[in-house]
Amino acid sequence: MRGFQRKMMNDDLTINDNLSYFKADDGGLSMKGKVRTREKCPKCGAGFKEIPETDIICPECGRRPKTFYLDLYHQQTKHKISRDLDGNILDSYKRAYRLLERMRKDIDDFRFDVKDYLPKEIEQFRVYNLFPKWINNKKSKGLSQVHIHKTESYIKTYYLPFFQNLSARDIRT
Ligand SMILES: [Zn+2]
Repeated sequence: MRGFQRKMMNDDLTINDNLSYFKADDGGLSMKGKVRTREKCPKCGAGFKEIPETDIICPECGRRPKTFYLDLYHQQTKHKISRDLDGNILDSYKRAYRLLERMRKDIDDFRFDVKDYLPKEIEQFRVYNLFPKWINNKKSKGLSQVHIHKTESYIKTYYLPFFQNLSARDIRT
């Protein structure tokens, strides 16, 4: 409590800092992670400031950054996530915060795996899912079983290992 009073008396503290102090009771839900930006305000050069769970703005002129990322410390590891599950950059606070909430939910449900949020891993998963579609497509064209089996074994032997490091976008072309 004395620490808290000392905190309250510190003139440098902003309203936001005090608010987050009061928000300590989270009802057992994970409040891990933060939305951040690497940018400084392009107009006045000030550092952007987060209004927790709401926005990140320049306190001087009210501008917003163009890109955001998530900073999450979980199980002794620091994660920085700068894209959403569709591979889009986090270009708004809302988009970033929505992703953070999803991660927190996963943490709450004990099913958090950072691989689910890393673009490379997500792409690999997509690539992996494209092949069955491709096979089905071949089947629907009435190609022979022999041809299809050949294709499947090709995929297993050559394509999958090779495409592990390529994105799904490269394959569609
Ligand atoms: Zn500014």
